[in-house]
Amino acid sequence: MGLYEKTAAELSALLESKQISAVELAQDVFARTAAVEDRVQGYVTRTEQQALAQAQAIDERRAAGEALPALAGIPIAIKDNICTKGTLTTCASKMLYDFVPPYHATVMEKLDAQGAVITGKANMDEFAMGSSCENSAMHPTHNPHDLTRVPGGSSGGSAAVVAAGEVPLALGSDTGGSIRQPASFCGVVGLKPTYGAVSRYGLIAFASSLDQIGPFARTVEDAALLLDAITGHDPLHDSTSVKTPFEGSVRANLNADVKGLKIGLPKEYFGAGISDEVRERVLAAAETYRGLGAEVFEISLPLVEYALPVYYILSSAEASSNLARFDGVKYGYRTPHAGDDLIALYTKSRSEGFGAEVQRRIMLGTYVLSSGYYDAYYKKARAAQRKIRAEFASAFEKCDVILTPVAPTTAYGLGAKTADPLEMYAGDICTVSVNIAGLPALVQPCGFDGAQLPIGMQLIGPRFGEQRLMNAGLAFEQASGLRNIIAAL
Ligand code: GLN
Repeated sequence: MGLYEKTAAELSALLESKQISAVELAQDVFARTAAVEDRVQGYVTRTEQQALAQAQAIDERRAAGEALPALAGIPIAIKDNICTKGTLTTCASKMLYDFVPPYHATVMEKLDAQGAVITGKANMDEFAMGSSCENSAMHPTHNPHDLTRVPGGSSGGSAAVVAAGEVPLALGSDTGGSIRQPASFCGVVGLKPTYGAVSRYGLIAFASSLDQIGPFARTVEDAALLLDAITGHDPLHDSTSVKTPFEGSVRANLNADVKGLKIGLPKEYFGAGISDEVRERVLAAAETYRGLGAEVFEISLPLVEYALPVYYILSSAEASSNLARFDGVKYGYRTPHAGDDLIALYTKSRSEGFGAEVQRRIMLGTYVLSSGYYDAYYKKARAAQRKIRAEFASAFEKCDVILTPVAPTTAYGLGAKTADPLEMYAGDICTVSVNIAGLPALVQPCGFDGAQLPIGMQLIGPRFGEQRLMNAGLAFEQASGLRNIIAAL
């Protein structure tokens, strides 16, 4: 068994007991990357030289007798919308083709302090807008379980490199499902934390009130390990971050006992539009929980009907404002075709630098915020958001966690939905409500379809319910044996 096939928790123990070195581990995962990456194409930038230097430094500190944190020497890939000091951060956009941040995101400071080894920057849909990774201005990423299919998106690169065995852990970001849907398509574990649990400082903003950074891993324990490293109040840099009750202790408190756990199945998430195979596997997972002593019952969340329009109005409105900073003047792409006309400099830099989907969202967002339409669209969407929040809050008076599918289908073919943006948006139906309500949600594999493609399930928790979600996830993982799945490439 190659080191690349081991979990982060196993590798951490091997490193600590000095049975392996961080350099050896880095070399092993790079050998795997060399063997598969030309087919998967999960990275935008690889930082192997720098990673080897980081690994070497960790080995020296350990040899000197220093006690090191759990992630010291563990390879981690980073979604390319998270600022890494001195390393290209493109957001998979021509607009940021040459952007080298002069500062680290807070999560990167935390990973640095842990001694993590950064393997590179993972591919994504441009500015995190998309569900298939095909909106990347660089290249599409391929699903490691079937290279003709999409890995999901927008964090498709992060999910794919973990599923392909190129790295045991990765960071992604989730505004409307961008961690969870690719985790589902690639057969890995992904967590969207409670809004505020992880600092967004240095995460290039898409929709600031919905965005959260979260972990990808191949086991629930590994996801907890990475979550523990990145959570925390960041009063200096992110005023929306908060102190959580589970701060850094989720892994230590993992407990797979689900006896008496109340699991709600919202009937609206299992109706028309969800493929039979997905529905059957998720309902079979519910039966597994029942067998473990959980109480499983049907609930109703009728407002899911409004989730997609609410999400696309709010997220596009915020995106139109957030992306106004890319003007060709301060940094990023600047058109060579503007002559000495300032307005042409702005418009041409933006039309040439942003891809079609990003421009579509900016136009949609500008429209719903414009005077005359603000009340009809933006204000209504905010009102609907409050109702959706209240609906989840009352559901959590009856149940401890909510179990749903992640996406209507398993991974589809590359190019299958690129011609029809609305069809692409419809695939987000099961994930967007979680961001609208600011809740945490865990995705993990629950089976395979007839084509041997992974099927994921989603456990949604109340605010700060991360420990409960991880415990429930671990119980299913142990009962099903569906863990540490690496695509045969
Ligand atoms: N697929 C959704 C979108 O295109 C979600 C993206 C995300 O979570 N960043 O907006």
